[in-house]
Amino acid sequence: MINWIALHSDAWTQIQSAKASDRLAHALLLTGASGIGKLAFAEAVAASLLCDQPEADGQACGTCTACTWHASGNHPDFRRLRPEAYSEEQPEAEDAKPATAKADKKKSEQIRIDQVRGLESFIQVGSHRGRRVILIEPAEAMNEATANALLKSLEEPPAGVHFLLVSHAAERLLPTVRSRTRAVPMAVPAASTARQQLADVQPPLRQGDLWLNRCAGALRFAVGLAQAADKHPNATDEAMAEVAILEALLAQLPLGERMDPLALAKTCEALIKGDQSGMRLALLIDWMQRWTLDLHLVRLGATPRVFPEQLNALQRLAAQLNDDALQSFPDFLLESRRLSSHPLNIKLFLESIFSRTMALYEPGLTP
Ligand SMILES: [Zn+2]
Repeated sequence: MINWIALHSDAWTQIQSAKASDRLAHALLLTGASGIGKLAFAEAVAASLLCDQPEADGQACGTCTACTWHASGNHPDFRRLRPEAYSEEQPEAEDAKPATAKADKKKSEQIRIDQVRGLESFIQVGSHRGRRVILIEPAEAMNEATANALLKSLEEPPAGVHFLLVSHAAERLLPTVRSRTRAVPMAVPAASTARQQLADVQPPLRQGDLWLNRCAGALRFAVGLAQAADKHPNATDEAMAEVAILEALLAQLPLGERMDPLALAKTCEALIKGDQSGMRLALLIDWMQRWTLDLHLVRLGATPRVFPEQLNALQRLAAQLNDDALQSFPDFLLESRRLSSHPLNIKLFLESIFSRTMALYEPGLTP
């Protein structure tokens, strides 16, 4: 699969050289866009810190006692703090939940203060082996009280205790948390590096590059959606639904003034129905926003970023845009995104979005 260390080799080198010269900050804050592999990278850093005999480049050996424990989730010197609502998902599931997602009634979307308090004995009781590692993700899932409870430990942990905080939205962290951590900014991987990694995915993805564009370089999302589009058995239900929604949109959006907003609303409603979280409706609007971004770019004579394969359709549509309608459309979508967690009637909600979309074009101009 994807080699997240190679993908973020700058951050890896920075951490490993600090570790080799005994200057590694006791609290690292890994920040960057969602879907670029921060959590997988943090896992590799944790494994590297815990491993008894790391490789020359710092990677965990994978075979020593510590690595065996860590791989089976039983390392006594490792703790993971994440919201309970995430706990049954795969560790790779680092998606920032949309702000509009409804809170799960039973399981918290937040890291609870009890989870942080539970760390105290872990931190204070010495390790038998060496380092101890605490992985917190996403760090923005700590509310103010919880973050405050963590501050003392963050400030002066005993020797050998390392905190790894993963954040998709570091600007939402308390300044006091940020100031007690060393930021490790993680960039969206260069397109060429990401494409190389995509080419190595097994079984091969039929349209890896296409999905890499669509996900703005966020490789983890791209792999998930490309596998769903290929109907790969590993694809998640959510990725399958997202691909189906996007396919429905792309069957109609290029038609411009001739699109059928009611039929599209009906198709999309069927794909969204039964989704309690509100995620799918939010994702649909995200894709509408990306389509609109490309329309803007092409209108300005630039290259579409998300849907370059739709260049011909976008050029045709851009020539027919009503500038006034286009001007207000991004704000309309933003407001729709905000309302998407509690629409009164999904079908009507979608019909209004798609009718506004159709009205972007001057009547009678679409060939
Ligand atoms: Zn090892």
